[in-house]
Amino acid sequence: MSEALKGKLFIISGPSGVGKGTVIRALKELFPQFVFPISQTTREIRPGEKDGDVYHFISADEFKAGIENGEFLEWAQVHQQNYYGTLKAPILEALEQGKVVVREVDVQGFHSISRVVPKEHLVTIFIKAESTEKLLARIAKRGKLPEEEIKRRMHSAELEMKDANMFDYQVWSLENKIPECVEAVRQIIVDETKKAGLKI
Ligand code: 5GP
Repeated sequence: MSEALKGKLFIISGPSGVGKGTVIRALKELFPQFVFPISQTTREIRPGEKDGDVYHFISADEFKAGIENGEFLEWAQVHQQNYYGTLKAPILEALEQGKVVVREVDVQGFHSISRVVPKEHLVTIFIKAESTEKLLARIAKRGKLPEEEIKRRMHSAELEMKDANMFDYQVWSLENKIPECVEAVRQIIVDETKKAGLKI
């Protein structure tokens, strides 16, 4: 895979409720020239979401077919529940064209991608929360999630935070400080993109 790649893939991970979605939305505004690939998921579409925006919502059978056809760069069952997968083709195509790609994945996705994408084309960023209590409060504030789902997310959060130091960068997402978190991630992306000699 390595010879043809020229670009850089930025992977952003972190526990549920830490503000990854907000960070990615801000990055899309800041860097409209970068590639923000959509992932495939079997989870239900939520109110306000649009198919093809962040995810392509598919059935479990379609997802299985995708696995069998080798369409995924990585895939994982997240929060012991739904399946999520990044598609190989759009990411590799963009990297072959020397583009910058930014995608959110869970920590399992981070491990899988680290195994297949050469280090010089990959930058990994973990967004950290102050405590699981703060995350819980944020998830609860969003509302609408059943108790079981909140429990599953907190369980994943505890596991994910254990691997934070395996990432290239760790960025704090402190209470009411999302703009600072966005700025820290933006700076990492600018620095790493320049270091790789790629166009911003
Ligand atoms: P949500 O359903 O709240 O949008 O996302 C749930 C979790 O799935 C988040 O931790 C997010 O990072 C993760 N996720 C989103 N897309 C992908 C993907 O393509 N691959 C993997 N492994 N995880 C993903």
